[in-house]
Amino acid sequence: MASICVYCSSSDSIADTYPPVARALGRELGRRGHSLVYGGGAVGLMGVLALATRKAGGEIAGVIPSKLQDREGIAYDADELIVTETMRERKGIMVRRADAFVVLPGGYGTLEEFMEVLTLKQLGYHDPPISILNVDGFFDTLLDFFGELREGRFARKAITDLVHVVSTPEEALDRIEAVAARDGTVS
Ligand code: AMP
Repeated sequence: MASICVYCSSSDSIADTYPPVARALGRELGRRGHSLVYGGGAVGLMGVLALATRKAGGEIAGVIPSKLQDREGIAYDADELIVTETMRERKGIMVRRADAFVVLPGGYGTLEEFMEVLTLKQLGYHDPPISILNVDGFFDTLLDFFGELREGRFARKAITDLVHVVSTPEEALDRIEAVAARDGTVS
């Protein structure tokens, strides 16, 4: 069982393609007995994901700064709710509590969170599995750009040496579980 941190959109206005993927990931997380660490909001893919995880019996821990909590409330009676003063503090807690990361489609917030765990991994500060769920090619242009960074030697490692790019929630969790079984990092 792993504590899996998911970064994903806070928007309720995105295309209908995406919520079912967040729902399927939540269901699968709960079904496999993993727990969820996430942004704590009831909005966008975060809300869909949290509700589905909970319904499938998975524990959810929301980590939210007080400013956002006041504005949007918290999703679905999280088993644990950690309210922080700042966004920075909140991101640190999410990273420390996670054994692995899954990145779903999202905007600036999701990208910022993803870039931080990616950079920490490249620099060797941590070594958790990170899966990017590339729903309908959502991340293709970003992945192409990462390829250019590597080609130009701006990046020390190829993106595929740092993350698993997957197309289904099952695959995302399979990759995480395989790494955990290999390294003995997750029970
Ligand atoms: P974005 O991709 O810009 O929608 O931002 C989503 C990501 O940033 C999530 O993974 C959250 O951790 C964080 N975040 C952004 N907005 C919120 C919010 N309103 N409530 C909770 N977390 C948020």
